[in-house]
Amino acid sequence: MGLSIAIVGSGPSGFYTAESVLEKWADCTVDVIEKLPTPYGLIRYGVAPDHWKTKAVAKSYEKLALDPRVRFFGNVEVGRDVSVAELRQRYDAVVLATGCSTDKTLGIKGDGKKGVLGVASFVNWYNGLPSARDLDPDLDTESVVVIGIGNVAVDVARVLVKTPEEMAATDLMEHAARVIHRSPIKHVYMVGRRGPLHAQFTNVELREMGHLKDAAAIVDPAQLPAAIPEDAKAEFSDRQLRLIQRNIDTLKDFTKIEPGSRKKRVHFVFFSNPVEILGGECVSGVRFEKTRVEKGRAVGTGQFFDIACGLVIPAIGYYSHPIPGVPFKDGKAINSGGRIEPGLYAVGWIKRGPSGVIGTNKPDGDAAAGQVAADTGGVSPGKSGRAGLEALLAGRKVKAVSFADWKRIEAAETGRAVAPAPRRKFATVAEMLAALDAAPGAGAAPPKAVAQAD
Ligand code: FAD
Ligand code: NAP
Repeated sequence: MGLSIAIVGSGPSGFYTAESVLEKWADCTVDVIEKLPTPYGLIRYGVAPDHWKTKAVAKSYEKLALDPRVRFFGNVEVGRDVSVAELRQRYDAVVLATGCSTDKTLGIKGDGKKGVLGVASFVNWYNGLPSARDLDPDLDTESVVVIGIGNVAVDVARVLVKTPEEMAATDLMEHAARVIHRSPIKHVYMVGRRGPLHAQFTNVELREMGHLKDAAAIVDPAQLPAAIPEDAKAEFSDRQLRLIQRNIDTLKDFTKIEPGSRKKRVHFVFFSNPVEILGGECVSGVRFEKTRVEKGRAVGTGQFFDIACGLVIPAIGYYSHPIPGVPFKDGKAINSGGRIEPGLYAVGWIKRGPSGVIGTNKPDGDAAAGQVAADTGGVSPGKSGRAGLEALLAGRKVKAVSFADWKRIEAAETGRAVAPAPRRKFATVAEMLAALDAAPGAGAAPPKAVAQAD
């Protein structure tokens, strides 16, 4: 009898794990359990709406989902509809691939004020995560401070200043487009506590900031080194040094940009550590301490300055949302190379924390498959697996969304898009389920490849 494997979460790490186990065992069954009716995790709700090509990676995940050994159980939340312990009773291996969805907070004076908006909430809102639909951020300000100089900070700054025309061929949510494009934002400050050598953004993403229609990238040349200092080189690999050099070259190019008629500015501000959010009930600015970098660490200089703004978006990383029954520490599941305990594994951001691009999650799937092989010998003692989960869900009247259902939701979203937008996402789970009821084929037999999924 083949192994039964439950993967919790359908983002990149979940699908790469499915790929690895399917390659290893021809006779296994893989059930992907996802709390939303929609698959793909941050590919749908994190990756920026104007990075449409990046989202195409989902096509390769779809192929896996259509494998006859795989079943998608959407709209089933582990910890709410079914527990980890119940899954472990039923499956030979349970792999947690639930990512990181909770904002890290700054932990400085004033960071609870109205107008401080965690980046996860903001990104989820403009990307249409149902739970963020009613965020209603107040963008009625001319200046925004984004704290952090990673790729998420760059995404947010770009989405805030792009024109409606630049966002037309994207799946930016309508509710977000309305608010963003009416806002009077003129200045977005991206502030790093360290300097350009230690910026986390990648060069392709940085260069995009030099090609915006109505926004100019502004960099103070005094903050850029003439060359990478010799004493700093030992800290980095050759690959990192090449990336740093490209970033410095790009930032130098930005210093030559003539804003011309462009009305908006994205300011890159380095060597500045936030120490206090200013204002009364609402944010009026951020106080920073100037820093210098010593042995890779930002060290305060005792000099302070303020940036006035009406909105602060800390883009400083994420924590995993704890799952009942799973040991957690420092925003991650406690694991050793991915193994939490024999029979229970972690992959992706819940395993490693919130770092790495989509492909970084792939080796985690191989590692998990290797650990499952070591712990089970590839032999199933004959647990109830899929049939056991179905019986449990039926008993609780939990109706899972199948992959065929998802394809109907996707078809409805594509069908109602107004060109050149590639899709118009549903904003709530209720709308998704209603579309499912209304979709052609509702109640009819699903396509053959996914027939088992209904
Ligand atoms: P996720 O993608 O977060 O997937 C986790 C899944 O688990 C979700 O579908 C979630 O709904 C589900 N889940 C959570 N809890 C439960 C539960 N209790 N029960 C059932 N299901 C659950 N990388 C790039 O290469 N290019 C980019 O352009 C890019 N843009 C990004 C933009 C943002 C804003 C962020 C935050 C990251 C971006 N990344 C990008 C990084 C990339 O998205 C991550 O490396 C990757 O998504 C992590 O995969 P994961 O599977 O661990 O988590
Ligand atoms: P990140 O790359 O780790 O960047 C976080 C930024 O926040 C860093 O500049 C960090 O500075 C700063 N920071 C952290 N804590 C801080 C604090 N307390 N005060 C001030 N600043 C603080 O994280 P991310 O931007 O969230 O991205 C997560 C991952 O997703 C990354 O691997 C990223 O590459 C990936 N991603 C990729 C893309 C893409 O490929 N297009 C898009 C989005 C995200 P220090 O460095 O000094 O700690």
